[in-house]
Amino acid sequence: MSVRLRFAPSPTGHLHVGGARTALYNYLYAKKMGGQFILRVEDTDLERSTEEALKMQISDLTWLGLKWDEGVDPVTLEGFGPHGPYRQSLRKQIYFEHAQRLLEQGKAYYDFRTDEELEALKQAATAEGEFQRTPRPEKIYSKAEAEAKIAKGEKAAIRFRVDEVRDYKLQDIVRGEVVFPSDMVGDFVILRSNGMPVYNFCCAIDDALMKITHVLRAEEHLSNTLRQQMLYEAFGYPQPQFGHLSLVLGADRQKLSKRHGATSCHEYMERGYLPEALLNFVALLGWSTTDDKEIFSIKELISAFTLDRFNPAGAVFDEEKLKWMNATHLRALDHQVLWKMLEPRLKTQGIEVPADSAWVDRALGLFKTYMETLEDAAKLFQPIDDRLYSIKEDAAEVFTWDTTKKVLLAWKQGLESASDYMTTEDFEKLQNSIKDSCAVKGKNLFMPIRVAVIGQPHGAELKILVPLLHKKSLLKRVEICLQKCN
Ligand code: GLU
Repeated sequence: MSVRLRFAPSPTGHLHVGGARTALYNYLYAKKMGGQFILRVEDTDLERSTEEALKMQISDLTWLGLKWDEGVDPVTLEGFGPHGPYRQSLRKQIYFEHAQRLLEQGKAYYDFRTDEELEALKQAATAEGEFQRTPRPEKIYSKAEAEAKIAKGEKAAIRFRVDEVRDYKLQDIVRGEVVFPSDMVGDFVILRSNGMPVYNFCCAIDDALMKITHVLRAEEHLSNTLRQQMLYEAFGYPQPQFGHLSLVLGADRQKLSKRHGATSCHEYMERGYLPEALLNFVALLGWSTTDDKEIFSIKELISAFTLDRFNPAGAVFDEEKLKWMNATHLRALDHQVLWKMLEPRLKTQGIEVPADSAWVDRALGLFKTYMETLEDAAKLFQPIDDRLYSIKEDAAEVFTWDTTKKVLLAWKQGLESASDYMTTEDFEKLQNSIKDSCAVKGKNLFMPIRVAVIGQPHGAELKILVPLLHKKSLLKRVEICLQKCN
């Protein structure tokens, strides 16, 4: 039987990095086993789930390259695949019918108590120090009686009946055997009095009807699994295998949250991280290979992925490591591919550079070792753009030296006879010859040249930058400097 795994976000905003990891593991196993990866949207909480947030999640998953075989279409948001609809908000009839089935079999009942009454019961139980399980109502109406009351306008939730006291066992893929005593939960709501089904109910039904074979999800859902197991049994549906992943922690070992900094994939995208690096990084939060290999392409992850290498202990989200991984993936990119990502970024920042591919290839070859993220490109490429050249304030001192003018004149003269683009050796040679001809050395030599290239006496490595600047640009710049010399 082919495996079927799903990612089932409740869209309330951009995809969290922890969510990306969940999606990735499900994707990897589906791909590894030649099965299907499904995107199901858990949007029954109408107050929190918005269409906008769904689009955000879809665009984040698409950016990551985690393509799904069934689910919500990334463009039309319509369902595609044989088990639709794939949005829970469109599956209400299915949940309603399932609730009816349980009511008919006496496995569920209508509960007419109001929220206030239930709250009062809870308060009373808390005051007596009792375990807060919702007690069963004193009177349970037959289905027909209850329906008659509802027809008159009364409101009722539907509760699942937890009768038998016994242990439920789960062979968790990540945690091994987990035992839940069934009296951990009381009769629980499956359909609210406003007709909205609750998460556990929808999730179990959908996983069963969508023929999901493995569920890898966040640790916080572990306690839900007991209710879901009860529902599987009540319907006689086969259960998937569950795996509850480790928590993703911040540097202080607390659950990763906004206060730790960027937590959404979108933020990392904007900050110039590559999807393959982010995937590589989250893959290793709570999973590893036997050989401690760290850099993986997505293809390599698919082939290395197994379900027996999860670590149940919380995994720390180490930003420095992510940055290192990003730098490593970035440096391995084909220059054309890298340029496709950088060009629009530089444009948005108003930086113009030569468009010819030989120049771009050379520039990237030189610059990419200085880049950890795509964002770093701006400060590297910015000195190339003539329009952005100006003499900065901290260069003032250079123009007070009486040797500066002769150094600049020698630089200009050297440029005039140089080729369009100097090599690093040409540049070093020229600098040496200026040193000899002007009898100037040290900062009196280097700083004026530096100002004539980048407008300031400190900063960028000239050996790298000069070979990327056309002689015309360098001449324009030295002219500007010479005008400042009397
Ligand atoms: N909709 C749930 C969430 O976003 C996922 C539940 C599950 O994977 O079973 O946390």
